Amino acid sequence: MTLSETPANPRYDGLVAPPYEPTGNVAGATAEQWVRSHVDELRGKSSLLRGPFERVHVFWLAGMSCDGCSIAVLGATAPAVESLLTGSVPGLPLVLLHHTAVQVEAGEAYMEPMRQAIDGTLGEPYVVVYEGSCANEDKLSRGYWSAIGEEVDPAGAKVQVPSAVWLRRLAPKAAAVIAIGTCATWGGIPAAINNVTDSMSVADWLGPEYRSALGLPVVNIPGCSPIGDNFTETVAVTLLFLQGVGPAPELDELGRPQWLFGETVHRGCTRAGYYEEGTFAEKFGDKECLVEIGCWGPVVQCNITSRGAINHMGGCMNVGGACIGCTMPGFPDRFTPFYKAPPGTLISGNGARILGSFVRPLRLITQRKLNRETRWDRPGGVTPGGWGADHSTTTFDKVTDKFYDFLRHRGAHGTTKKAG
Ligand code: SF4
Repeated sequence: MTLSETPANPRYDGLVAPPYEPTGNVAGATAEQWVRSHVDELRGKSSLLRGPFERVHVFWLAGMSCDGCSIAVLGATAPAVESLLTGSVPGLPLVLLHHTAVQVEAGEAYMEPMRQAIDGTLGEPYVVVYEGSCANEDKLSRGYWSAIGEEVDPAGAKVQVPSAVWLRRLAPKAAAVIAIGTCATWGGIPAAINNVTDSMSVADWLGPEYRSALGLPVVNIPGCSPIGDNFTETVAVTLLFLQGVGPAPELDELGRPQWLFGETVHRGCTRAGYYEEGTFAEKFGDKECLVEIGCWGPVVQCNITSRGAINHMGGCMNVGGACIGCTMPGFPDRFTPFYKAPPGTLISGNGARILGSFVRPLRLITQRKLNRETRWDRPGGVTPGGWGADHSTTTFDKVTDKFYDFLRHRGAHGTTKKAG
C-alpha cells in the first residue's frame, strides 16, 4: 500500500474552528489589510500588472524545520522578497504572504485565510510553500510532531492541527505546492535512518499522483539551506505561468527546476581547474580542489558555485567548504561519513593526478613563453627588469618555442603564419 492509499488519521476529521479571538493582533489590522491600504494604492499608479490576477496568497507552512529556509529566502536578491511583497516585479501579481514569523496578526485572525482557501471562499488564487519535512502524523494516536493552530473536536476539546494535515487540506485547490529546502523536498535530516518521526518529503506525504489545481507536481527547491534566489526565481516563474504570460516551469523528473539543478556543482566550481590538473587540498584552508577531503561536487546537482549563497557571493566551495550533497535525495545517509573522500575519487582523482603530472609542466612551459612580448625576443631585444622577474631565455626555451610555434601555425591560412 502506498502512502497516498493510507487512510488519513481520523483524529483530524470533524474538527471545527474555535470561536474567533483576535488575540495578539497588536497592529489592529491583518497583514492583508495593511497591504491593501498601503501597497495597492501605490500599485494603482503603475502599469506593472499583466494577466488576470492582481494578488496571489502564499501560505508558508513549517513542518520538521529549523527555519533556515525562511532565513535563506530573506537574503534573496533576484528577485528580492520585498519586490514580490510590494508587487514591483513587472508582470507578477502582488504576493500576500502568510508566514508565522512576519505576520502582524495571530490566533484565529491568522488562521482565517487558510480556512477560506480550503473552503474555496478566499476569492484569489493561492500557493502553498512548505518548509521542513512532514512527520508521519497519521501514525500518532495522541500528541503531534509539528502543528499550527487549534480546532475543536466533537467533545469540545481543543486539538492542535499538524502542519502536514494543513498541507493535505490546502494542496488540492493550490495553484502550486512548492517544497523548499532538503527536508521538504526529500525528507532531509529529520528523515535520516533511525529517526522516530517517520518523516518524509512533501511529495511522499501527498503521494505520487498529486497535481496542483494548475496541473503541476510538487515543485522541489532543495538545499540545506537552499539558495534564496533559487526559490524566489521559481516563485516568479510559477506566478508568470499562473498569469498566463509564461510557460510552465520546466521541471526535471524529480520536480526540480531544470535550469537550476541540471548541472553539477563541480562544473561551475572555481577549484575545478585544480582537479583537472590533479592537485588536491590536504586540509581545509588549502586553495586546491577539496575532493580528497570529502567533496562530492562532481556528482551533486546544485548551482551554488555559480549562483553564490547571497547576492552572487559566497557558496560552499567558494569559501572553502566541501560539498556534502545537501541538495540530493540521498542526503544525509548516502553521503556519510562526511569529510571523507568519496569512493569514486580512487579512479577519477588518481586519473587526474597522473594526467596532471604531464599537463602541469607543459602548461608552465607555455605560460613562460606567453609571459614574454615578441619584441623582447627579437635580435637585440631587451627585457625590462621587473621585481624578481627572470626573463632570460634558455636554449631549451628556444627549442620548445620553435616546436610550439610549428604546432600553433600548422594548418593556418593567410597572414597568420607570416605574422609569427
Ligand atoms: Fe569539484 Fe569539489 Fe573540487 Fe570544486 S572542490 S573542483 S566541486 S571536487
